Amino acid sequence: MSEKPSHDSANEAQTDFFHEGQLVGVWTTQPLGRRLDYKAPEGGCWLGAFVEVPLGPRKVLGVVWSAGAGDYDYAKTRSVIRSLDVAPMRSELREFLEKAGAYTLTDMESMLRLGVRAPGLGDPPSMRKIYRKGDTEPDRMTEPRGRVLDALQEYGDLSFTLKELSEAAGVTSSVVKGLVKLRAVHEEDTPRDLPFPRLDADMPSKALAPDQAEAAELLCAGIKSGEYGTTLLRGVTGSGKTEVYLEAVAECLRKGRQALVLLPEIALTAEFLTRVQERFGAKPAEWHSGVTMTERRRTWKMVAQGGAQLVVGARSALFLPFRDLGLIVVDEEHDTSYKQEDGVLYNARDMTVLRASICNAQVILASATPSLESWANAEAGKYTRIDLTSRFGDAVMPDMRAIDMRGVKLAGNRWISPLLKAEVDARVASGEQALLFINRRGYAPVTICRACGHQIGCDHCDARMVEHRFQKRLVCHQCGESKAMPEACPSCEAQDRLAAVGPGVERLAEEAAELFPDARIATLSSDMYGSARALKAEILGIAEGAVDIIIGTQLVAKGHNFPLLTLVGVIDADLGLQGSDLRAAERTFQLMRQVAGRAGRSSKRGTALMQTYQPDHPVIRAILAGDENGFWTAEAAERRAATVPPYGRMAGIILSSPDVQDVFDLGAALARLDGPLRQIGAQVFGPAPAPIARVRGRHRVRLLVKADKNAPLQRALKAWVKQVKVPTHVRLSIDIDPQSFY
Ligand code: ADP
Ligand code: ZN
Repeated sequence: MSEKPSHDSANEAQTDFFHEGQLVGVWTTQPLGRRLDYKAPEGGCWLGAFVEVPLGPRKVLGVVWSAGAGDYDYAKTRSVIRSLDVAPMRSELREFLEKAGAYTLTDMESMLRLGVRAPGLGDPPSMRKIYRKGDTEPDRMTEPRGRVLDALQEYGDLSFTLKELSEAAGVTSSVVKGLVKLRAVHEEDTPRDLPFPRLDADMPSKALAPDQAEAAELLCAGIKSGEYGTTLLRGVTGSGKTEVYLEAVAECLRKGRQALVLLPEIALTAEFLTRVQERFGAKPAEWHSGVTMTERRRTWKMVAQGGAQLVVGARSALFLPFRDLGLIVVDEEHDTSYKQEDGVLYNARDMTVLRASICNAQVILASATPSLESWANAEAGKYTRIDLTSRFGDAVMPDMRAIDMRGVKLAGNRWISPLLKAEVDARVASGEQALLFINRRGYAPVTICRACGHQIGCDHCDARMVEHRFQKRLVCHQCGESKAMPEACPSCEAQDRLAAVGPGVERLAEEAAELFPDARIATLSSDMYGSARALKAEILGIAEGAVDIIIGTQLVAKGHNFPLLTLVGVIDADLGLQGSDLRAAERTFQLMRQVAGRAGRSSKRGTALMQTYQPDHPVIRAILAGDENGFWTAEAAERRAATVPPYGRMAGIILSSPDVQDVFDLGAALARLDGPLRQIGAQVFGPAPAPIARVRGRHRVRLLVKADKNAPLQRALKAWVKQVKVPTHVRLSIDIDPQSFY
């Protein structure tokens, strides 16, 4: 028998239960393009029930979405096999999946798959055996037996797993099993998916600074209202935003509702878990790719049953079946990793606001450098804005200066200017840390043959292979394909003439090792760590002062706290400014501010030095001036004039196929049939080869649609693409509000 939905049942009292034999409409996780009718099983089923249904010869997972349509012969309609023993999907989540699917133009089946990303939901609750003190003493006492009973005695009424108990007593498991037979040890089954430890919202918290207290009070008032609202919590790195939003989490827990904190990077969770434990006395549930399958299922089930009060996770946690979600925090809300670029193309930040508005929850978008979208929504009054203006305690913003590289003579394989070197030397000498930042993974972006000029490219993509000396391979950053570094040029076969061109993080590390032979150097790049745990350990070591110089990619720009760090040197501040991406300036601004924000997080003032060939570029100047509002205002004006997001709407259409002619033909057909788009005043650009015209052997063609902010874009797009027949080997994907343009 399935559990009754707990909160929204009142509104649905008339229609939320189906008796045996009544028709129900079921969305399955299979791509069928429509709901299927089934008869409710023996014992009936609830609206929203997770069910197993027959589909041809198979059994598939589905959710009871509505009453059946009844347009199929009743006698031939098959029955639901069974309702799964999990809480039915609440109407709030069903509505969210529908609306998110409509917004991103994604079919319901794919949306549903996002909502059931936990293994073994259909399995009966998995059990495990636990052991505690029995009722009798064994007749024959041996030394090992005595140790088992002592261990049980020592822990009072606590129960152990077999492994824990035998280890605590220092005996083999058969000794314990023997005692079970004699009834001296009691064995019982308990469910494996246990609730998470209770978090105590009323544990004493840190005394907040006045601006923090004011911010916390505002956020708590939002939670108390029990209504939807979004707040943009702005404050430089280290201003105490996390401390403030933990107060909102506390208020949410006091109200008996659940909270979700989204983080952009798994490596950040460890520090966050510790802070939750300090604040609430226990750790929250976790949801990200580093969590085991068993733990994922536990989190999924406990979130649905109310056995998890707080979840910290990656963007996909947004699709968990919360029982009563009252607060969602999106930390580092500007981070590009919130945009899913594969499969269902959604932006978790925007979908957070959607879900919260449906379930009457509050949203907190926290950032030192908000996205222009959020900045504009705050300007327009749609979001409340709270600014934490100073760093917590004595920490102050770093002193920021440009190093004009136009006057600096460096050897062809050198990137660290003498001025930057001198500053690094000074830090190392005084026991402080320096960070050298370059936003490029690998050793060198280009490998060129000095004999014939050939550049080694990927066989499947129109991209150059990047040398990764650490892995001793050439890697394509588009498709991930890698090959061993050849000894001879693949084109002219000249021996030993291949040369690395341009800097990557590994090459910078090599230069630093030569320039600073006595310093301890650590290189932080996402592809250099086998596991999230290894990376975590390295980051912890750095925070504790185990290294003098950190060489890093954008991985280090994301919120880590390095108290000893007082100098940041940006090797190439111009890197992000090139390129056709409409957000290039915004990204560069955010990244530079974030990196600079690493310097001087504790009481000592930091310095940030930016090597640039364009010291007069408006973005570089805004960064140096620390003029955030100046930057946003100028950037907003430009985007408004061009009617591009957030002042206009865009959709990218990517067609891909192994056959280049097919994609161009289809693209041209779409461009010709632009009637439905013109009707809403939208324009279509292209088809053009995508900036990366071939990925994994598939040719890619891109069209771009631009419309006014309030145009009904999705409806028009649907009508537009419906006019063409997409050949089976051609893939058409639509990206609403595209973030990257590759
Ligand atoms: P942000 O999230 O804005 O980067 P944090 O909340 O992480 O800032 O705060 C930065 C540092 O200051 C952390 O080490 C945090 O523990 C400390 N901190 C912040 N607020 C307080 C407070 N009111 N009392 C004591 N320490 C605080
Ligand atoms: Zn490739």
